Amino acid sequence: MGQRGEYEDLMGKTFTDLYVEGPADSRWESGKVKYYWTVRCSCGTIFEARGSALKHGSPQSCFPCGRKRAGRTNHIRKSKIMQCIRETVKDMYDAGVMSEEEFTNFKGIFV
Ligand SMILES: [Zn+2]
Repeated sequence: MGQRGEYEDLMGKTFTDLYVEGPADSRWESGKVKYYWTVRCSCGTIFEARGSALKHGSPQSCFPCGRKRAGRTNHIRKSKIMQCIRETVKDMYDAGVMSEEEFTNFKGIFV
């Protein structure tokens, strides 16, 4: 095997609302292997997220929780939060959690 690149053991770690349950299949993206993890949101939703994205704080929760959070904090640092959510959504879309249609709908609402 070659070098392990960005691999880091995130199992059992918590990133805001997300708990890392275990490794998911790694994927090839842009000619590099990307390590994915199965994460569970505090609401119980389970999905896969890229390890490097988790470490950078996006996503911090599943999509519905991210949306709820956005609703609650609508008037606080809106642009920064919106940017964060956009990145979260992009990550979820990239990770295959969200369909093209959902992604498009989301962009229509928030962007
Ligand atoms: Zn959630």
